[in-house]
Order: sequence, then structure tokens, then C-alpha cells
Amino acid sequence: MKSDVKLFENGRRLDGRKPDELRKIKIEVGVLHRAEGSCYLEWGNNKILAAVYGPREAIPRHTQNPLRAIVNARYNMAAFSVDERKRPGPDRRSREISKVISEALENVILVEKFPRATIDVNIEVLDAEAGTRCAGLTAAAVALVDAGIPMRDIPVACAAGKIEDQVVLDLGKEEDNYGSADLPVAISPRTNEILLLQMDGHLTVEEFDKALDLAIKGCHIVSEFQKKAILEKYRHIPKEVG
Ligand code: ADP
Repeated sequence: MKSDVKLFENGRRLDGRKPDELRKIKIEVGVLHRAEGSCYLEWGNNKILAAVYGPREAIPRHTQNPLRAIVNARYNMAAFSVDERKRPGPDRRSREISKVISEALENVILVEKFPRATIDVNIEVLDAEAGTRCAGLTAAAVALVDAGIPMRDIPVACAAGKIEDQVVLDLGKEEDNYGSADLPVAISPRTNEILLLQMDGHLTVEEFDKALDLAIKGCHIVSEFQKKAILEKYRHIPKEVG
């Protein structure tokens, strides 16, 4: 979408970032006591809480898969998380995001180890400012590690996009509103396998390749934040416990 809003000036973006710069990220592990695993994540002005329950028997029983666990991610945006109060409860957008995050996580969790079980992942967006599906998936992955759920890798997500004919990393709110494309990507960082790829807007094939490459680079940076936060929590556990 073309607009009169100037998103770039002297090579810098509205918030002063360079094209390949991420917003600030802060991750805290194990913030809730009743969840098996949890994570609080700030990414720019996004604030997100993820909580994992399970694996536990899937109920009602007809939802069970005798061969593997089902992964049930539920993305929810709080009514107060956006400028104009959002109507509480699920809507089309949150159902779509829940589905794509569930499918991304299912591909890294060792679901075959837990037949008939469900692993519930609650993602609560407390403050939203673009990029919440990437931030939500990133927080959910850390909460899954905190819950001790076995995974092939720690999945991670980051978006790239296009503003004023330039491909940039991690769109902020105005960039998302007035930019011309947004490309959220989730990967397994060990193998670079793509777990989620969505696109909103228009890109040429060359721009798409560039944006995908940039988003994957962003994922690897975010992955380091995840690992650092996990180490931060578990480094201090005394050896004699357990
Ligand atoms: P993502 O948050 O993954 O980028 P979208 O592209 O759908 O997902 O949304 C972009 C941003 O638009 C959100 O992060 C949020 O700031 C805002 N937004 C989404 N839904 C609503 C809504 N119902 N009311 C107000 N703002 C919203």
C-alpha cells in the first residue's frame, strides 16, 4: 500500500533502526507457578505471556490421537492490548494464528512420545504492536523448554517486510500499517527448516528471496536471546536438587 507516511529518512526507519535491525527483545523464563512451563517476552512494545500445560490426557477422548500427542496452541489478544479496546474472545485472526502456531510447534515437538495426550500452549498478548505471531511463537518455544517438553530444536520466529521499496527486518506498527509487505517466518534454527511462512502484501521474487533470507537471519539472532534466557534460569539450579 502506498501512503504519504514517510517510513525512511537518511537510511533510518521511524524508530531510528537500520534496515536489518531488530526491535529490543527481553525474555524471562518460568514466570508462572501453576503452569508446567512459562515465558514472558517483550519484543519492541509487544508484551507476551506464554504458558504450557501437559502433556496430559486429551479430553474429550475422541480428540485423542492413539499415535501421538496433539499440540493445541491458543493465541489470544487481550482486550486492552490494542489502541481501541478489542472485543474479547476468539475471532478469525486469532483462530488462524493459533492454527499456524500449533502446526509449527507440532513439527518440532516429539509428539510420538505422548500418544493420546494433549500439550496446551496458551499465548496471551498483553500489548500488541505488530509481529505478535512471531513473538508469540518465540515465547511459546521457550515455555515448552521450561516445561521440559522434548523437542528436536527450539523453534523461533521473526518477520521481514518491505517499506518504501526497501526490504527490512522486523516491521514495527507504522511499518506494518503503511508498508507494502510483511513476511513472518518461523524456523528450526539447527537445520533452517521452515516451520511457518506467511505473506501479506506484494513482493517480487527477488524481494521475496531477500526478505526470506533476512527473516531467517533475524530468527538466528532471536534464537540467541532464547538460549541466553533459558541458560540464565537453569544455570543457577543447584546440582543436588532432584
Ligand atoms: P502480527 O501481530 O503477527 O503482525 P497482524 O499482521 O494480523 O499480526 O497484525 C498486526 C498488528 O495489528 C498487531 O500486532 C496489532 O498491533 C494490530 N492489530 C491486530 N488485530 C487488531 C485488532 N483487532 N484491533 C486493533 N489492532 C489490531
